[in-house]
Formats: sequence, C-alpha cells, structure tokens
Amino acid sequence: MPNTFESESRKLLGRLRDTMADKAAGQERLDKITHLTADSMGTEVCSIYLFRDDETLELCATQGLNPESVHQTRMKLGEGLVGRVARTGKVINAADAPSAKGFRYMPETGEEIYSSFLGVPIQRLGEKLGVLVVQSKEAREFSADEIYALEVVAMVLAEMAELGAFVGEGAALQARHTQSVLIRGVTAQEGTAEGHIWLHEPRVVVTNLVGDDPAKEHARLTEAVENLRVSVDQLMAVASGDTEQVQVLEAYRMFANSKGWLRRMEENIDRGLSAEAAVEKEQSDVRARMLQATDAYLRERLHDLDDLSNRLLRILTGQGTQTGAELPENPILVARNIGPGELLEYGRQLRGIILEEGSVGSHAAIVARALAIPLVIGAKRIQNEALNGDHVMVDGDQGIVHLRPDDTVVNAFRDKMAMQAKAQERYASIRDKPAVTLCGKTIRLDMNAGLMADLPSLESSGAEGVGLFRTELQFLVRSQMPKRTELAALYSRVLDAAQGKRVVFRTLDIGSDKVLPYMQAQDEPNPALGWRAIRVGLDKPGVMRMQLQALLRAANGRPLSIMFPFVAQYEEYTAARAEVNKAIARETKLGHALPEKLEIGAMLETPSLAFACKKFYEEVEFLSIGGNDLKQFFFAADRENERVRRRYDTLNVSFLSFIEDIIARCKATNTRLSFCGEDAGRPVEALCLAAIGLHSLSMRPASVGPVKHLLRRCNLDDVRKVIHDAQDAGEQSVRPAVMEYLRGLS
Ligand code: PEP
Ligand code: MG
Repeated sequence: MPNTFESESRKLLGRLRDTMADKAAGQERLDKITHLTADSMGTEVCSIYLFRDDETLELCATQGLNPESVHQTRMKLGEGLVGRVARTGKVINAADAPSAKGFRYMPETGEEIYSSFLGVPIQRLGEKLGVLVVQSKEAREFSADEIYALEVVAMVLAEMAELGAFVGEGAALQARHTQSVLIRGVTAQEGTAEGHIWLHEPRVVVTNLVGDDPAKEHARLTEAVENLRVSVDQLMAVASGDTEQVQVLEAYRMFANSKGWLRRMEENIDRGLSAEAAVEKEQSDVRARMLQATDAYLRERLHDLDDLSNRLLRILTGQGTQTGAELPENPILVARNIGPGELLEYGRQLRGIILEEGSVGSHAAIVARALAIPLVIGAKRIQNEALNGDHVMVDGDQGIVHLRPDDTVVNAFRDKMAMQAKAQERYASIRDKPAVTLCGKTIRLDMNAGLMADLPSLESSGAEGVGLFRTELQFLVRSQMPKRTELAALYSRVLDAAQGKRVVFRTLDIGSDKVLPYMQAQDEPNPALGWRAIRVGLDKPGVMRMQLQALLRAANGRPLSIMFPFVAQYEEYTAARAEVNKAIARETKLGHALPEKLEIGAMLETPSLAFACKKFYEEVEFLSIGGNDLKQFFFAADRENERVRRRYDTLNVSFLSFIEDIIARCKATNTRLSFCGEDAGRPVEALCLAAIGLHSLSMRPASVGPVKHLLRRCNLDDVRKVIHDAQDAGEQSVRPAVMEYLRGLS
C-alpha cells in the first residue's frame, strides 16, 4: 500500500510531467522545476547545478537563493558540498551543512541562513550532468523517502536533458550531444578514419517517465520480466556447449529471477515511475555501483546486470537493437565491447571501431588488425556521448576520438589523412618492385595473416608470401571447435588464394591471451608463462593431430610449411616433428597425396631457444623470431600491460646484440631465419633488423609499403655502422643515432 509520502511523490511527478509537456523555454522550465520541488518538499530552497564543462558546475536555476547568482555562481568538481556530490556521485544529507566536511559558503547566493542540505547527483546511466539540491533553515536530516523523491526529480531532469528539454531561448544547457568532444583511449590498431557513428547497441530512450496507474505499470513490468526470463531460457538452449556464453546466461538467469532486483523496480513504480523509468532508475544505480567497483569479478557481474536491464528496457519500450536504422555511410562502430564473430559479420564495411573497454590482445583487436580497421579501445564515455549518425574522426595512431569535431579539428585531421593517402600512393607505386637497398641487398617482405579476410592483402600489399599464418584466429572467432574437414577446406582456400606463394602455417598458439571460448579456461597465475601453444599441443595432442592432418589434406600435393610456436627447447621441436611424421604415415596409409615439399620450422620466442644446442639449429628447417614474445621475456615486461609494454625500446642495444647473436648462430649452421613480430612492420625497426642481418621480415600487410619504401632509400652498411658506433659509445638505444642518420637522407 503506498504511504502518504509515496502519493506526495506521485503528485510531484505528475506536476513535473506537466512542466515537461509545457512549451516553456529551457530556463523557464528549470525555474518551474525548482519551484515545484521546493514547494512539494517543504524546503525554502531548491537549486539546480549543471556541468558547464567536465570540471565546472554552474548554478542554473534556483528557488530561494539570490536570483542574481544564477549563471554567476560556479564551482569546481569536488569543491564545496555540491562539488563533492558531483565528484562522488553520492548523496549528501547534512542537518548542519556549515559544519559538514568540505562545506564552502558562496556569499553571493545568500545561502548562509540555511542549515540543512540535501544534494543528489543528476546523472543518466552513469553520465554525470549536475547536482540537485534542497536546503532549509530548519536543522534536520532528510528522510529516506525524501531522498528518494529528490533522486526521482534528478532522474526526470536527466531524462529531460537527454531529450533536449532545456535547449532553446534562454537555454540553461547546451543541447546535449551537439558539442564536440575529444576522447582519449588506447591504440589497438593504427590508422585514421572519418565517418559516422554506428552504435552496436543503440541507447533506449525513455519518454514515458511517470506512471499514473501503478497497477498497470506493475502488470507491464511483470509481463516484461516474464518475457525476459523466457528469452534468456531460449538463449540458454541455443548456447549449450558454449561454456563462456552459458556462464554469462546463467548470471542473467540468476538476476532475472532475483527477488531483490524485481523488488527495487517495483518500489520505483510505487513511488510514481512508469515501468521503464523504474527499470532505468535501477539501472542507473547499478551503473553507479559499477563505477566504484574495484573487484573485476563484481564489475563483470554488474555489467551482466546492466545488459539485462537493457534487454528489459527494450522489451518495455519496443525499441529493439533492430531499430530499422540503416548503417550510415563510412560507419564507425561504437560498442562497450564486441566479440570477434560479431565484428567479422560487420567486416570490411566498417571504417573504424571505438570500444569503451577491450584490450590490445583481445579477440576483437585481433580481428580489427586482420581487417586493418583503425581501432581505439578504452574510449571512456563514448557510448554515452555518441549518437547514431554523429560525425566522428578516429585517430588510431594516437588512440584519440574526435566526436562531432569542430572545423579546425576537421581540417587538421583531413590534412593528416591526405598526407597518409599520398604516402599510400607512393607505396602503391613500388608495390611490384623488390625491397632492394642502396647497397644492393634484397630483403624478403612477407605478411602476417590469420583469417581468410587477410588474403586479398597478399596481392594489394606487395608481400611475397605469408610469413606467419596465425591459425588460432579461426578457432577464436568461432563458438565451437572447428571440425577437421572445415579446417582442411579453409587451409585449402588459403593456399588457393596464395596462388603458389609460400604460406607458413603456425600451429595453434592458444593459452596466454588467446583463450578459446569453448575450452575450459585454466586459472593460471601467469598465463603468458603458462600452459600455452606447443605445450598444450604436446600434452594433449588430439587437436594438434587434427590440425596437422587438416594441413596435409589441404596441401593435397602442394608445398606445405608448418611452424611450431613457443618452442623453448630442442626436445619440444623433435616431439612436434614426430607428430608430423605420424600424420604423414597415416596419410600415406590412407593413400592421400603428400605435400610435394614439406618444411617444418619453429618460432624463436623464448630466450632459451637462442641458446639451444647446435643440433637443434642444424635440424630445424627454418626459424622465425616472434619478437613480441621474445621481447617480453627478454625484458620481463608484459606485452599486454599498458604500464610497461612500451618501456623498453626494441632498438635497445642489449636486445639488438641478442638478436645479432641469434643471426650469427643461424649463419654458422646455415639455418634460414626470419622475424615476424610487430616490430618487423615498423620501418625504423625493420631497417635496423635488416642492417644487422635479418633479411626476411613478416609484418601486417599495411606495413609492407612503408617498410619497403624506407629500405629502398637506405644503405644497410651505413646503418650497420651507425648501430655499431652507438653500441660502442655505450648508448642505451641506437634509435637517436639511426634517426639522425635518417634525417640526413636526401
Ligand atoms: C610474436 O610473439 O612475435 C608472434 C608473432 O606471435 P604472437 O604475436 O601471435 O604471439
Ligand atoms: Mg608469440
């Protein structure tokens, strides 16, 4: 049974709704709301403070304080009680405000005569918009119901702001989602792009906030929750077998059946909200908790609950993900996070991708790299700020997003893109020429790949072949383990597309950052040093055998190159080779065609292999340095950890000396050597590697042009001398000296 306060709260909401429907201009609307709120709550003062920019709040409307101070009084985030509510997103309820921690008195407002203070944040789904305050002379603490009522008013304000209700003549707020915003994230795939926002999950807009008939709203909520439960059960039935998805859905089911969740939403309805507003209020509270949660597991669960609230909102408002909107021209995808399969479905039509979360080594990042689509991750607030169709510029090189950029930014960015396009033209003009240096040395440039989608780049990039085909990507983008026949068909298509060019298939490198969705995750304290790659392959040879068989069948008589990842000692190579021999024996028995030529190599990714016995070097048919892993183990610096991953320079003399030693060992044993880590695709790094004797480099396709362009302009003998002089001079890195040399080139 609603108590008297609840009906007061409903009355207040009803009056607010009239204000919402009113044709009044922005400022007038705000003034009315402060008046109404103070009146209904029996306080002398009600004030609305809104953010002018990220750091500053401005008094935008007041009932009770000095009207002259409106639009004059400002405070910094964290300053005074209002600033504290804004910073923490938490309610402050003080009977004796002047003695409360952080109180700061604003003389121009005349607030010194008011003793009690209640401030609540105005926020929409975690996005901070301002602070709503009531004050009274009487020194009293506000009750839980009064706090609730003020929170509801704040929520209405936030929704109205979202709908542009305060924009117009005498506007207190700039129209939301119209200002230009710069968001800093992290680079996950370089490149620049200009286009229009496409929200992977468009936001739900709640226009009906007030529920006149609580019984009807309760019935709507009950029905929607029932629908939600059914849809989660249906998803469960489809997902069985996909462990990770099942786990998420189990969390969904638990929340969907949670009495506490439902009760909180029902209470919101009792207090006058519509069913959808009740869900959104609960969702806002969840988001506020999410922002504070430091525990990763808890944060994930709160994310699940947030997703579930979204589903419920979509059911209630009828706004599905399929909103009927069409993909804009040059779409730039925005999402909190996205799975590799979904990203592949969008494919190359995307110009750029912006994620609020994600990591450099995530599956989505791997796919974005394969598709060469600029990707910025960790772009906080982008989902709140961006609207479908907004103009956006993505600077994947700097990890920056310019949303609704102003003319200066647009011009500067377009200049940058034009310069890049010019460079691309230059690279295209040398595409069919060899990477011959001024001293006459030819460097072999291959490309790295992992998906069928990569193969067209073989032609367009000018790469000579595929120096590294990461086979795990095919496993990562699926929700189920691929079958041998599927794999054989895929590898065969890869070889077809390569048209006789060499393709080096690396066997599965799973574990560490690449965890297959359908395999049980191993809870390892340090996965990069754990049970991964060939270690898994040798201990549980089933998948490796299946893969080797698929490769032999795909070759169907054509030449085949296989490379084993993460080999740390000679014996691992011989054991893996024995598996190949067994697979060949089986194929022979079955009467299948064998590869015309078969070469078996290993990746050198652990320092230990650099010191392996001479016999290993004599036996292995080729070696490829996996610089990403080798460097992380050499410097003991996690390649996934933003804090340390850029700390040590690849051109550090100690690392270069180490690679020189590997080159010398390979020379002595006549072992073919290449380099396929990311550094091979960085022109200056590639030049130095070539100068110290690495004459075969494999890189992402987009790097082949820039690397070739630089190599063709340099004399490796000169560069080698520069490197050795810097080493002799005791420099930490040879980079400054090499850059100096490059500046001197005509
Ligand atoms: C490497 O470690 O350098 C490498 C090429 O392998 P990955 O990046 O797939 O670990
Ligand atoms: Mg590696």
